[in-house]
Amino acid sequence: MSLTLVTVGTGTVAPHPKRSSPANWVERGEVRVLMDCGAGTLHRLAEFGLPWEHVSHLALTHFHPDHFGEAPALLFALKWATHREEPLVVLGPVGTVQLFKRLADAIGKWVTDPGYPLVMLDLHPGEPFPLGADMTLEVHRTPHTQESVALGVRAPEGLLVYTGDTGPSEELGDWATGCALLLAECSLPEAMAIDMHLTPRQAGALAQRAAARRLVLTHFYPPVEQVDIVTEAASVYRGPIVVANDGDRFEVGR
Ligand SMILES: [Zn+2]
Ligand SMILES: [Zn+2]
Repeated sequence: MSLTLVTVGTGTVAPHPKRSSPANWVERGEVRVLMDCGAGTLHRLAEFGLPWEHVSHLALTHFHPDHFGEAPALLFALKWATHREEPLVVLGPVGTVQLFKRLADAIGKWVTDPGYPLVMLDLHPGEPFPLGADMTLEVHRTPHTQESVALGVRAPEGLLVYTGDTGPSEELGDWATGCALLLAECSLPEAMAIDMHLTPRQAGALAQRAAARRLVLTHFYPPVEQVDIVTEAASVYRGPIVVANDGDRFEVGR
């Protein structure tokens, strides 16, 4: 068995010719988790040949539109563009279930009753959700929005942590300790640092604190692409660093 990550969208809300909004595909056997679903995700999944019609879980980090905006379109595509009978499990921070119920009130009952089995659940820190027999999903709060969380996928191959959006947090680094792969946001250059996002150096510090075996960076606003991201992150983190592009594939724990 292998635990595979595909960085489907490595951009932000800023329209970009090469980077679509945040989305990450995590696959292990029959478990196929889409982590975040921003603008461009569905077409990117098709472009990269990923079996989007067999997605088993949608897991959200927070409700900013670049991370959540195309989630209704995914539910709609599974309803009208597939003959789906498998259940879909939608997971996210506290407020996820209420958000989808409100959406159903606003745009149609199909959001919560799409014609295939749909399970929606709010995730709470400290309560791992089983994705499979030996695979769990955990969340940890991040300093970004009121509801924002990081996602941790734990499997025999190793721990994969995706920060979602976050500001600097030693607590988050401690929670991610020993992860085989840290997929960290890297929004802004040092000169534009703010509390609710990471710079390359802050992402490096997070990886160093977590003693991550590998650091993969994502979520780049255009100004951060003007600096030497790897060199800056490497000034505080000694492990291997990758600046992810849309469609990059990683085997976790290898
Ligand atoms: Zn974002
Ligand atoms: Zn955000």
